Amino acid sequence: MSEHDTARVAVITGGAQGIGQAIARRLSADGLTIAIVDLDADAATAAAGAIVDAGGRARAYAVDITQEDAVESLRAEVAADLGPADVLVNNAGITRDNLLFKMTTVDWDSVMGVHLRGAFLMSRAFHSGMREKGWGRIVSLSSTSADGNRGQGNYSAAKAGIVGFTKTLAKELGRFGITANAVSPGFIDTRMLRATAERLGISFGEFTDRSVEGIPARRFGTPDDVASAVSFLAGDAASYITGENIHVSGGFHE
Ligand code: NAD
Repeated sequence: MSEHDTARVAVITGGAQGIGQAIARRLSADGLTIAIVDLDADAATAAAGAIVDAGGRARAYAVDITQEDAVESLRAEVAADLGPADVLVNNAGITRDNLLFKMTTVDWDSVMGVHLRGAFLMSRAFHSGMREKGWGRIVSLSSTSADGNRGQGNYSAAKAGIVGFTKTLAKELGRFGITANAVSPGFIDTRMLRATAERLGISFGEFTDRSVEGIPARRFGTPDDVASAVSFLAGDAASYITGENIHVSGGFHE
Protein backbone atom coordinates (compact mmCIF):
# COMPACT_ATOMS: atom_id res chain seq x y z
CA MET A 1 0.00 0.00 0.00
CA SER A 2 2.59 2.57 -1.05
CA GLU A 3 0.27 4.78 -3.12
CA HIS A 4 -1.90 7.21 -1.21
CA ASP A 5 -5.27 7.42 -2.86
CA THR A 6 -8.16 9.72 -2.33
CA ALA A 7 -9.93 7.60 0.30
CA ARG A 8 -10.07 9.27 3.69
CA VAL A 9 -7.88 7.81 6.41
CA ALA A 10 -9.29 6.95 9.84
CA VAL A 11 -7.08 6.23 12.86
CA ILE A 12 -8.83 4.20 15.54
CA THR A 13 -7.21 3.63 18.93
CA GLY A 14 -8.10 0.38 20.68
CA GLY A 15 -9.35 -0.87 17.31
CA ALA A 16 -8.24 -4.47 17.82
CA GLN A 17 -11.39 -5.65 19.60
CA GLY A 18 -14.78 -4.68 20.98
CA ILE A 19 -16.26 -1.31 20.10
CA GLY A 20 -13.10 -0.07 18.38
CA GLN A 21 -13.03 -3.08 16.07
CA ALA A 22 -16.68 -2.52 15.13
CA ILE A 23 -15.89 1.14 14.40
CA ALA A 24 -12.95 0.09 12.21
CA ARG A 25 -15.15 -2.35 10.26
CA ARG A 26 -17.91 0.22 9.84
CA LEU A 27 -15.63 3.06 8.68
CA SER A 28 -14.02 0.63 6.25
CA ALA A 29 -17.47 -0.24 4.89
CA ASP A 30 -18.00 3.55 4.54
CA GLY A 31 -14.96 3.57 2.21
CA LEU A 32 -12.25 4.85 4.53
CA THR A 33 -8.73 3.47 4.85
CA ILE A 34 -8.18 2.24 8.39
CA ALA A 35 -5.23 2.48 10.80
CA ILE A 36 -5.84 0.22 13.78
CA VAL A 37 -3.77 1.36 16.75
CA ASP A 38 -3.62 -0.97 19.73
CA LEU A 39 -1.37 -2.25 22.51
CA ASP A 40 -2.19 -5.80 21.46
CA ALA A 41 -0.13 -6.33 18.30
CA ASP A 42 -1.52 -9.76 17.40
CA ALA A 43 -5.15 -8.74 17.82
CA ALA A 44 -4.55 -5.52 15.87
CA THR A 45 -2.96 -7.46 13.01
CA ALA A 46 -5.87 -9.90 12.99
CA ALA A 47 -8.44 -7.06 12.98
CA ALA A 48 -6.68 -5.28 10.11
CA GLY A 49 -6.38 -8.60 8.24
CA ALA A 50 -10.12 -9.22 8.58
CA ILE A 51 -10.85 -5.82 7.01
CA VAL A 52 -8.46 -6.52 4.12
CA ASP A 53 -10.03 -9.98 3.63
CA ALA A 54 -13.42 -8.26 3.39
CA GLY A 55 -12.08 -6.04 0.58
CA GLY A 56 -11.08 -2.95 2.61
CA ARG A 57 -7.77 -1.21 3.25
CA ALA A 58 -6.26 -1.42 6.74
CA ARG A 59 -2.97 -1.54 8.61
CA ALA A 60 -2.17 -2.40 12.20
CA TYR A 61 0.09 -0.34 14.45
CA ALA A 62 1.18 -1.70 17.83
CA VAL A 63 1.45 1.42 19.96
CA ASP A 64 0.86 2.39 23.58
CA ILE A 65 -1.00 5.68 23.18
CA THR A 66 0.17 6.92 26.59
CA GLN A 67 3.75 7.18 25.26
CA GLU A 68 4.45 10.59 23.75
CA ASP A 69 7.36 9.55 21.52
CA ALA A 70 5.50 6.48 20.25
CA VAL A 71 2.49 8.62 19.31
CA GLU A 72 4.68 11.12 17.43
CA SER A 73 6.36 8.27 15.51
CA LEU A 74 2.94 6.78 14.81
CA ARG A 75 1.75 10.02 13.22
CA ALA A 76 4.72 10.01 10.85
CA GLU A 77 4.35 6.29 10.09
CA VAL A 78 0.62 6.53 9.29
CA ALA A 79 1.24 9.59 7.10
CA ALA A 80 3.95 7.72 5.16
CA ASP A 81 1.93 4.49 4.82
CA LEU A 82 -1.59 5.77 4.24
CA GLY A 83 -1.49 9.56 4.13
CA PRO A 84 -2.39 12.09 6.86
CA ALA A 85 -5.37 11.14 9.00
CA ASP A 86 -8.76 12.71 8.24
CA VAL A 87 -10.59 11.01 11.10
CA LEU A 88 -9.35 10.20 14.60
CA VAL A 89 -11.38 7.98 16.91
CA ASN A 90 -10.14 8.09 20.51
CA ASN A 91 -11.57 4.77 21.63
CA ALA A 92 -8.83 2.92 23.58
CA GLY A 93 -9.80 2.43 27.18
CA ILE A 94 -9.27 0.41 30.33
CA THR A 95 -11.08 0.01 33.62
CA ARG A 96 -9.45 -0.38 37.04
CA ASP A 97 -12.63 -0.31 39.13
CA ASN A 98 -12.56 0.00 42.91
CA LEU A 99 -14.44 1.80 45.64
CA LEU A 100 -12.60 4.93 46.79
CA PHE A 101 -11.13 3.36 49.94
CA LYS A 102 -9.62 0.51 47.90
CA MET A 103 -8.56 2.45 44.83
CA THR A 104 -4.80 2.63 44.43
CA THR A 105 -2.87 5.50 42.92
CA VAL A 106 -1.87 3.13 40.12
CA ASP A 107 -5.58 2.40 39.44
CA TRP A 108 -6.18 6.15 39.18
CA ASP A 109 -3.12 7.04 37.10
CA SER A 110 -3.45 4.18 34.61
CA VAL A 111 -7.08 5.02 33.80
CA MET A 112 -6.30 8.73 33.46
CA GLY A 113 -3.29 7.78 31.33
CA VAL A 114 -5.10 5.77 28.68
CA HIS A 115 -8.30 7.83 28.43
CA LEU A 116 -7.12 11.40 28.96
CA ARG A 117 -3.38 11.51 28.27
CA GLY A 118 -3.93 9.10 25.35
CA ALA A 119 -6.74 11.16 23.81
CA PHE A 120 -4.71 14.35 24.33
CA LEU A 121 -1.51 12.98 22.76
CA MET A 122 -3.37 11.45 19.80
CA SER A 123 -5.47 14.57 19.14
CA ARG A 124 -2.46 16.87 19.38
CA ALA A 125 -0.46 14.68 17.02
CA PHE A 126 -3.15 14.01 14.43
CA HIS A 127 -5.12 17.25 14.24
CA SER A 128 -2.36 19.14 12.39
CA GLY A 129 -2.84 17.14 9.17
CA MET A 130 -6.59 17.79 9.37
CA ARG A 131 -5.91 21.48 9.87
CA GLU A 132 -3.78 21.61 6.74
CA LYS A 133 -6.56 19.99 4.71
CA GLY A 134 -9.28 22.17 6.26
CA TRP A 135 -11.32 19.06 7.04
CA GLY A 136 -11.25 16.67 9.98
CA ARG A 137 -13.22 14.64 12.49
CA ILE A 138 -12.27 13.76 16.05
CA VAL A 139 -14.68 11.40 17.80
CA SER A 140 -13.87 10.37 21.38
CA LEU A 141 -15.49 7.65 23.45
CA SER A 142 -16.91 8.87 26.74
CA SER A 143 -19.49 6.84 28.71
CA THR A 144 -22.73 7.16 30.64
CA SER A 145 -20.40 6.59 33.63
CA ALA A 146 -19.23 10.20 33.17
CA ASP A 147 -22.22 11.13 35.34
CA GLY A 148 -20.80 9.07 38.22
CA ASN A 149 -20.84 5.34 38.85
CA ARG A 150 -20.14 3.46 42.08
CA GLY A 151 -16.71 1.82 41.97
CA GLN A 152 -15.57 3.91 39.02
CA GLY A 153 -14.22 7.17 40.48
CA ASN A 154 -11.23 7.05 38.14
CA TYR A 155 -13.18 5.99 35.04
CA SER A 156 -16.05 8.46 35.66
CA ALA A 157 -13.62 11.33 36.10
CA ALA A 158 -11.72 10.36 32.95
CA LYS A 159 -14.90 10.02 30.88
CA ALA A 160 -16.22 13.39 32.15
CA GLY A 161 -12.80 14.78 31.23
CA ILE A 162 -13.23 13.46 27.69
CA VAL A 163 -16.42 15.52 27.36
CA GLY A 164 -14.68 18.72 28.52
CA PHE A 165 -11.73 18.03 26.23
CA THR A 166 -14.09 17.42 23.29
CA LYS A 167 -16.01 20.66 23.84
CA THR A 168 -12.71 22.53 23.98
CA LEU A 169 -11.43 20.91 20.76
CA ALA A 170 -14.70 21.90 19.08
CA LYS A 171 -14.14 25.54 20.08
CA GLU A 172 -10.48 25.59 19.07
CA LEU A 173 -10.69 23.63 15.81
CA GLY A 174 -14.04 24.59 14.30
CA ARG A 175 -12.48 27.36 12.24
CA PHE A 176 -10.29 24.76 10.52
CA GLY A 177 -13.19 22.61 9.35
CA ILE A 178 -12.56 20.07 12.12
CA THR A 179 -15.43 18.82 14.28
CA ALA A 180 -14.96 17.15 17.67
CA ASN A 181 -17.70 15.11 19.28
CA ALA A 182 -18.05 12.52 22.03
CA VAL A 183 -20.07 9.33 21.95
CA SER A 184 -21.23 7.96 25.29
CA PRO A 185 -22.18 4.28 25.23
CA GLY A 186 -24.18 2.77 28.05
CA PHE A 187 -24.05 -0.99 28.55
CA ILE A 188 -22.41 -2.48 25.44
CA ASP A 189 -21.78 -6.22 25.27
CA THR A 190 -17.96 -6.45 25.11
CA ARG A 191 -15.18 -8.01 27.17
CA MET A 192 -15.09 -4.82 29.24
CA LEU A 193 -18.73 -5.31 30.24
CA ARG A 194 -18.18 -9.01 31.00
CA ALA A 195 -15.26 -8.01 33.25
CA THR A 196 -17.67 -5.77 35.18
CA ALA A 197 -19.92 -8.76 35.89
CA GLU A 198 -16.87 -10.72 37.08
CA ARG A 199 -15.84 -7.86 39.38
CA LEU A 200 -19.30 -7.91 40.94
CA GLY A 201 -18.93 -11.68 41.44
CA ILE A 202 -22.07 -12.60 39.47
CA SER A 203 -22.70 -14.52 36.26
CA PHE A 204 -23.13 -12.55 33.05
CA GLY A 205 -26.74 -13.85 32.87
CA GLU A 206 -27.55 -12.49 36.33
CA PHE A 207 -25.77 -9.22 35.54
CA THR A 208 -27.84 -8.93 32.34
CA ASP A 209 -31.15 -9.58 34.13
CA ARG A 210 -30.34 -6.98 36.78
CA SER A 211 -29.09 -4.35 34.36
CA VAL A 212 -31.60 -4.41 31.50
CA GLU A 213 -34.46 -3.50 33.85
CA GLY A 214 -32.96 0.00 34.06
CA ILE A 215 -32.49 0.35 30.29
CA PRO A 216 -35.57 1.72 28.47
CA ALA A 217 -34.64 -0.31 25.34
CA ARG A 218 -34.51 -3.47 27.57
CA ARG A 219 -31.32 -4.82 26.03
CA PHE A 220 -27.57 -4.30 26.06
CA GLY A 221 -26.19 -2.42 23.07
CA THR A 222 -23.86 -3.95 20.51
CA PRO A 223 -20.53 -2.55 19.30
CA ASP A 224 -22.27 -1.94 15.95
CA ASP A 225 -24.82 0.34 17.66
CA VAL A 226 -21.91 2.55 18.75
CA ALA A 227 -20.15 2.27 15.37
CA SER A 228 -23.27 3.65 13.61
CA ALA A 229 -23.11 6.86 15.65
CA VAL A 230 -19.37 7.21 15.03
CA SER A 231 -19.89 6.64 11.30
CA PHE A 232 -22.41 9.48 11.19
CA LEU A 233 -20.20 11.89 13.15
CA ALA A 234 -17.16 10.98 11.01
CA GLY A 235 -18.93 11.74 7.72
CA ASP A 236 -19.84 14.81 5.69
CA ALA A 237 -23.47 14.73 6.85
CA ALA A 238 -22.39 15.78 10.38
CA SER A 239 -20.35 18.82 9.33
CA TYR A 240 -22.44 21.27 11.41
CA ILE A 241 -22.44 19.12 14.57
CA THR A 242 -19.55 19.78 16.94
CA GLY A 243 -18.94 19.81 20.69
CA GLU A 244 -21.77 17.34 21.24
CA ASN A 245 -21.93 14.25 23.41
CA ILE A 246 -24.26 11.67 21.86
CA HIS A 247 -25.48 8.89 24.14
CA VAL A 248 -25.80 5.44 22.63
CA SER A 249 -27.38 3.82 25.63
CA GLY A 250 -30.91 2.67 24.77
CA GLY A 251 -32.12 5.57 26.91
CA PHE A 252 -30.08 4.57 29.99
CA HIS A 253 -28.48 7.33 32.06
CA GLU A 254 -26.65 6.88 35.36
P1 NAD B 1 -12.17 -3.33 25.18
O1 NAD B 1 -11.46 -3.57 26.48
O2 NAD B 1 -12.91 -4.46 24.54
O3 NAD B 1 -11.11 -2.77 24.10
C1 NAD B 1 -10.24 -1.70 24.42
C2 NAD B 1 -9.01 -1.78 23.51
O4 NAD B 1 -8.14 -0.71 23.88
C3 NAD B 1 -8.23 -3.09 23.65
O5 NAD B 1 -8.00 -3.66 22.38
C4 NAD B 1 -6.93 -2.63 24.31
O6 NAD B 1 -5.80 -3.42 23.95
C5 NAD B 1 -6.80 -1.20 23.83
N1 NAD B 1 -5.94 -0.39 24.68
C6 NAD B 1 -5.97 -0.31 26.04
N2 NAD B 1 -4.98 0.47 26.46
C7 NAD B 1 -4.30 0.92 25.37
C8 NAD B 1 -3.17 1.76 25.18
N3 NAD B 1 -2.51 2.32 26.22
N4 NAD B 1 -2.74 1.98 23.91
C9 NAD B 1 -3.38 1.41 22.85
N5 NAD B 1 -4.45 0.60 22.98
C10 NAD B 1 -4.90 0.37 24.23
O7 NAD B 1 -13.11 -2.08 25.41
P2 NAD B 1 -14.53 -1.70 24.75
O8 NAD B 1 -15.59 -2.23 25.63
O9 NAD B 1 -14.53 -2.02 23.31
O10 NAD B 1 -14.51 -0.12 24.96
C11 NAD B 1 -14.06 0.79 23.97
C12 NAD B 1 -14.28 2.21 24.47
O11 NAD B 1 -15.66 2.41 24.78
C13 NAD B 1 -13.51 2.53 25.75
O12 NAD B 1 -13.08 3.87 25.73
C14 NAD B 1 -14.55 2.33 26.83
O13 NAD B 1 -14.24 3.05 28.00
C15 NAD B 1 -15.79 2.86 26.12
N6 NAD B 1 -17.05 2.35 26.68
C16 NAD B 1 -17.34 1.01 26.71
C17 NAD B 1 -18.55 0.58 27.25
C18 NAD B 1 -18.95 -0.88 27.30
O14 NAD B 1 -20.02 -1.18 27.83
N7 NAD B 1 -18.17 -1.80 26.77
C19 NAD B 1 -19.45 1.52 27.76
C20 NAD B 1 -19.12 2.86 27.72
C21 NAD B 1 -17.92 3.27 27.18
